[in-house]
Amino acid sequence: MNPSELSTVNHPLSTAEGRFAAKDKRLVNCEEVDVNQLMPLKYHWAWEHYLNGCANHWMPTEVAMHKDIEQWRSNVLTDDERRVIMRNLGFFATAESLVGNNLVLAIFRHVTNAECRQYLLRQAFEEAVHSHTFLYIVESLGLDEGEVFNMYHEVPAIAAKDRLEMELTAEILSGDFDARTPEGVQTFLKNLIGYYLIMEGIFFYTGFVMVLSFHRRNIMTGIGEQFQYILRDESIHLNFGIDLINGIKAENPDVWTADFQAMIITRVKEAVELEIDYANDCLPNGILGLNRESFRSYVEHIADRRLERIGLPTQYGSTNPFPWMSETVDLAKEKNFFETRVTEYQSGTTLSWD
Ligand code: FE
Ligand code: MN
Repeated sequence: MNPSELSTVNHPLSTAEGRFAAKDKRLVNCEEVDVNQLMPLKYHWAWEHYLNGCANHWMPTEVAMHKDIEQWRSNVLTDDERRVIMRNLGFFATAESLVGNNLVLAIFRHVTNAECRQYLLRQAFEEAVHSHTFLYIVESLGLDEGEVFNMYHEVPAIAAKDRLEMELTAEILSGDFDARTPEGVQTFLKNLIGYYLIMEGIFFYTGFVMVLSFHRRNIMTGIGEQFQYILRDESIHLNFGIDLINGIKAENPDVWTADFQAMIITRVKEAVELEIDYANDCLPNGILGLNRESFRSYVEHIADRRLERIGLPTQYGSTNPFPWMSETVDLAKEKNFFETRVTEYQSGTTLSWD
């Protein structure tokens, strides 16, 4: 039997042979420890990310959209500006779903650790909230839902990014995949790097820059606020993913070979080019002080930062043309950033049993 199947039912150390210790836990291929027993905790970072995710709870319907509706219907926006917004809605509307599906179908069963699974359950819900956001925006603005939700098939620059991701999910779901072999662990790491580092860590950030540029000019601020909430969640997803990737590397040092590292660097560089193509497709003429050159350096700059976090050499040495983005990311980490919050989840509603 596959250890990931075993791990949902078996608990060898917690029966006749006594209880397990935190040190017996492993991130993948753990056959010694029952995944139903969260404590004793070993990976405190996973629990911290879980608590931080919960502290950031939000719902898209809390954000007022009336100003956006007014501006969208007026002639405040040029055709180029509308194109940027539509392209980003189209990309995110399905990208959030791809991330959620990969999490639940490909990642969850192979992470054989209770505290990491606790975080993955939280993240899966956040991805559902993000998908909900795009439905809410499409409904609020009365956009063509077919156009938005089909862009991942119909717009080549979006389809190319998503194809790279969907292949990674298919690889884990194929009958040939076996997590217990060194090649299996490499394939699993490739999936984690493809989703956490490339999708959530690189592909999402160009969209954040574009949409938040409108927010900075006080245009489409409802969508801007939604993206700030999403950015805050995504920065935790990215940090969890990096901790998970580095943790698996540390526990399986034999799989982190020179060839494997070179393959990852090549993939990240391919992703950078796909992202630059996407930015050019969104902004064929350049608007809002955003142009091709600035996006190339931004994507390269972000890719270098991501590579560093998993111990790989930087490739570009490009500077950040949007220093305000780091401020936005930092601001998003502060607890009381969202002053407009209308719901206190701690209080909840009164339970009624009738
Ligand atoms: Fe998301
Ligand atoms: Mn995410």
